[in-house]
Amino acid sequence: MKPLRTLKYKNGDEQPAIGLGTWKSGKGEVAKAVEIALNNGYRHIDCAATYGNEAEVGEAFEKVFSEGDVKREDVWITSKLWNDSHKKEDVIPALKQTLSDLKLDYLDLYLIHWPVAFEKGVGFPDKDEQYYSLEEVPIIETWEAMVEAKKQGLVKHIGVSNFSTNKLEDLISKTDEKPEALQVELHPYLHQNELLEFCSKHKINVTAYSPLGSGDRSEAMKGEDEPSLLENPIIIKIAKKHGASAGQILINWAVQRGTAVIPKSTNEGRIKENLASSGYQLDQDDLAEIDELDDHFRYVTGEFFVTEGNSYSNIYDD
Ligand code: NDP
Repeated sequence: MKPLRTLKYKNGDEQPAIGLGTWKSGKGEVAKAVEIALNNGYRHIDCAATYGNEAEVGEAFEKVFSEGDVKREDVWITSKLWNDSHKKEDVIPALKQTLSDLKLDYLDLYLIHWPVAFEKGVGFPDKDEQYYSLEEVPIIETWEAMVEAKKQGLVKHIGVSNFSTNKLEDLISKTDEKPEALQVELHPYLHQNELLEFCSKHKINVTAYSPLGSGDRSEAMKGEDEPSLLENPIIIKIAKKHGASAGQILINWAVQRGTAVIPKSTNEGRIKENLASSGYQLDQDDLAEIDELDDHFRYVTGEFFVTEGNSYSNIYDD
């Protein structure tokens, strides 16, 4: 198999550009998906405590790594700190729970999932009082605990997710240990070029989430009349031209921009198809047509964190 493109870190570590997403991959199907992925060449799995399936993902890791064909050290495993564990004393215990669920000794990358803090034990707040304000739990407090987790060897790299340029700039101004990675929504309707330029300048590796349009979110999370990426006529035309699927074009585009990308699938055929996305180059005409699709559209708006009484009125600063 052709070697996967990778994103390089300062210490020489490499993050494979295509990984498997696991959000919404249900119990009873996620272990199988991870097992299929690892046994078919994936070397990057994206997890998070809030997905509620890390224990099952861990069963797949334990099985595959004990079989011997795939070694733990050859796989890049990311997880994320949930918003209810931002207080400094809660970060390392939350990380240890994730490690225990995933049956691992260390993570390759640990991310602050959102720049938003909740009371301990709150999954999604239903009252304003369940939010901590930025004054009560400043992000630098959480970040310093992430730095400590890295010092203790529990994680190799640390970063953030769903941070805007302003929020990254603010964090960088307050710490000597810059985030090494950023995970944000990126796809042809949301290019985020300025954010990517900022990350390139600061040597922050970027991972694109919801690259296929996150079509399996619950109805409650979907906006009205969301545009489809997989059915976009331009994407379909480019796919036909290259003899690829629409999903493969979307994944290839992300890799060609120098980001990592983590399409989610629990379907064996699509898991394999997604990894086989980057065998050809999109040409200048393709890229110019895809440039025209950018209209700053988000599938994951972060609006579910905004209430009148909290201080998170503008998650993305846009
Ligand atoms: P994706 O954009 O990856 O879309 C997933 C959907 O696409 C599923 O319905 C899947 O169905 C379908 N699909 C997968 N492959 C193909 C294909 N080749 N052709 C057609 N349909 C396909 O959505 P996600 O929002 O899940 O994003 C990917 C990952 O990014 C998440 O799983 C998670 O790991 C991460 N993420 C991180 C966030 C953050 O806040 N940091 C937020 C959102 C996502 P099926 O399974 O049946 O194949």
